[in-house]
Amino acid sequence: MALLPLGLLLLKSTKCYASRRVPVRNLMSKQLVYSKFGDPLCVVKFRESAIPQLGDLEVLVRMLAAPINPADINTIQGKYPVKVDLPSIAGNEGVGIVEDVGKNVEGISPGNKIIVTKPVQGTWRNYATFSKDVVRVIPDNLGLVEAATLTVNPCTAYRMLTDFKPVRDGLIVIQNGANGACGQNVIQLCKAWGVKNIAVVRKRPDIDDLKKFLEGLGATHVLTEEELRTTTIFKDKVIAKPTLALNCVGGKSTTDLLRHLEHSGAMVTYGGMSREPVIIPTSAFIFKNLSFFGFWMTKWNEKADNKADKEVMMRDIVDLMSDQKLKGPVHKLVKFDNFQEAIGNALSSKGFTGCKYILDFS
Ligand code: NDP
Repeated sequence: MALLPLGLLLLKSTKCYASRRVPVRNLMSKQLVYSKFGDPLCVVKFRESAIPQLGDLEVLVRMLAAPINPADINTIQGKYPVKVDLPSIAGNEGVGIVEDVGKNVEGISPGNKIIVTKPVQGTWRNYATFSKDVVRVIPDNLGLVEAATLTVNPCTAYRMLTDFKPVRDGLIVIQNGANGACGQNVIQLCKAWGVKNIAVVRKRPDIDDLKKFLEGLGATHVLTEEELRTTTIFKDKVIAKPTLALNCVGGKSTTDLLRHLEHSGAMVTYGGMSREPVIIPTSAFIFKNLSFFGFWMTKWNEKADNKADKEVMMRDIVDLMSDQKLKGPVHKLVKFDNFQEAIGNALSSKGFTGCKYILDFS
């Protein structure tokens, strides 16, 4: 049973729909807001704001958790290609509990667990009103971290493994940044679908632990970037050459990935963590007939043609999560009040953390 604010409890006992809006006006929302683009540690500030009256097609949500993704940081910096009106509440995805619904909302009820499915809704706040069209009811048993991070990385991984090469027919996948949140989803989906996959990561002092962890998730082979350059696993036929490469790094790491691709394979670039350009040798086009694509989940979601595919994908992902076959990323929950710590760590250029920071509103 969800904990309702006192005002709402009083309201529910009156069974009077005309007066049910009054308490919402008295409820305050604590929010992380930026009024100008810039360094997130400087421009993101706490604000308390009265919750506006609930519209007929809106839902009032008590947020439980929201992650800090690279795209959130880039949006606050003004470097992300999504239009944001300032001042803006930060955060693109998150999970919460419905506290109240507008009088024309159907299929969503107080107590439902929901995720926010459309970007730029401002999820970094403890209470929010959202249009009913930007939330989706999920099963109560879905884990907090899985639910909070469902719409970006699992969906990106799912699409990249589905839309470019028929990897479920026995093809091999290779990816860099494999210990990142998206990479962990790629590995787990590959395992769930019986797809062999090679995970490439940066070397670090605890590399053996990281390799064990990623193998446990379902990676067939885990190689450091250096090992990838000298590996003989393809020549020795330990595993066939990959047909699909997923790249979130750029620079040398990308060139090393594509050297191992099978003839007529494809590379999908979805991130540029090294901030280095993607360099493709001429021979990759002429002699290996490789194809190169970019993928952006935001754009995919906007295309009306993808509505049916989206429904199938969401159901598949929720089922896999409910069956514990798709787990949330390695993470740290950070109390809302300590948001600077969470942002600072998410911003850190040191890397080697492999940890998603998640704001905890409880
Ligand atoms: P995480 O922060 O969870 O992971 C980042 C990964 O990148 C880690 O594996 C990290 O490795 C690696 N990395 C960081 N810097 C470098 C570097 N200089 N060289 C090599 N590897 C590096 O991020 P996400 O998984 O959430 O996102 C990864 C990327 O994908 C981001 O650029 C993000 O914006 C993008 N993305 C794009 C989407 C789209 O729709 N196009 C959707 C989702 C994500 P290490 O542990 O060694 O630091």
